[in-house]
Amino acid sequence: MYELIKEEDREIYEVIISEIKRQEYTLEMIASENYPSLPVLLTMATPLNNKYAEGYPNKRYYGGCEFVDKAEILAQERAKQLFNMKFVNVQPHSGSQANMAVYFALLEPGDTILSMELSHGGHLSHGAKVSFSGKFYNVIHYTVNKETERIDFDLVYKLALEYKPKMIVAGYSSYPRIVEWDKFREIADKVNAYLMADIAHIAGLIVGNVHPSPKGYAHIITTTTHKTLRGPRGGMILTDEEEIAQKIDKTVFPGIQGGPFMHIIAAKAVAFKEALKPEFKKYAEQIVKNSKALAESLIEEGLRLVSGGTDNHLVLVDLRSINMTGKEAEKLLEEVGITVNKNTIPFDPQKPTITSGIRIGTPILTTRGMKEEELKLVGKIIAKVLKNPDEKTKNWAREKVKELCEEFPFYKSLLNGL
Ligand SMILES: *Cc1c(COP(=O)(O)O)cnc(C)c1O
Repeated sequence: MYELIKEEDREIYEVIISEIKRQEYTLEMIASENYPSLPVLLTMATPLNNKYAEGYPNKRYYGGCEFVDKAEILAQERAKQLFNMKFVNVQPHSGSQANMAVYFALLEPGDTILSMELSHGGHLSHGAKVSFSGKFYNVIHYTVNKETERIDFDLVYKLALEYKPKMIVAGYSSYPRIVEWDKFREIADKVNAYLMADIAHIAGLIVGNVHPSPKGYAHIITTTTHKTLRGPRGGMILTDEEEIAQKIDKTVFPGIQGGPFMHIIAAKAVAFKEALKPEFKKYAEQIVKNSKALAESLIEEGLRLVSGGTDNHLVLVDLRSINMTGKEAEKLLEEVGITVNKNTIPFDPQKPTITSGIRIGTPILTTRGMKEEELKLVGKIIAKVLKNPDEKTKNWAREKVKELCEEFPFYKSLLNGL
């Protein structure tokens, strides 16, 4: 499969093979990651990469776009069908670019955005100081409620009345619960703000009907295509309002991007076709069943979960009860072949580089075919290693991880013949 790369560039070849093996022989539980199918992966490695197609289908600035136009139209039509929305832009290179396009299209520099605090589950591109979004706009943050650890809608309402934001942003990177779009829209209407739903993490769950859709509530929806949606890396923007759609198109190109990545857009089309199949709904349902099984087993083992459980594809573990930091936990789990990320928990006493939590996601293990039984075992392995990180426990964990990876192969065909 990769002979040509091997002949050309031995060093990068080694990187590729090592990374495929790492993905195949460890349990990847980063909540924002997924393993797309080979058709999706292979579509990216095609000469569609070569084509400059600035503009939009049938309105390009370059000749020779007849075939890539078809790819982009297919991606658009499938995306609209998936989310039951009227307008879509499939060109954003990433989720952050999609968000940038929305802000630039609908706001002026200095306007006020009301969004979730980063350490409570928000995203950098929702106005963090280190991000463009925090530099160009006046950003006010809401948080979760200290007791329930769910979105504090009283606070959202209070801040909205006080600061009169032009846009309210909902949708998160580490929030384990359902997002109540209707409540956000009610507040947005009271202060005449746009509501942007950033469904980067939960797009696949929405497509699979296991999380409510922001359709009908959000004026504008942004997403990545590579998380639960299981496509190529990229972003996308959806809306039902023509006026907003026109502003978005102009802002994505020529506003903030040049030529679209036609190989990625074609791969988005392939992924959307997969997501339209009934099997994908089963997949989304299983993701949630799996994280609930994982949550149950972690709780049985005595660990505390932020908000007490999960409704979606991730759990957030509060490690303070076992006197461990997120940084230590991430490293310990990596030693036994389980990849997670350290993550702040709401009102975290630790710095973001240390943290008191870990975020654990189930999209990849579910893609590999694992079900509740396996996720219960994985929860047990994680808890045992964290509570008792001696060599004996770690060796037992490594053995179990190896067995699970062998029982549920995924990219093995890529390694055949090596
Ligand atoms: C992942 C994520 C993004 C950004 O995605 P990138 O493609 O990494 O830029 C935006 N918003 C949320 C809520 C996310 O979780």
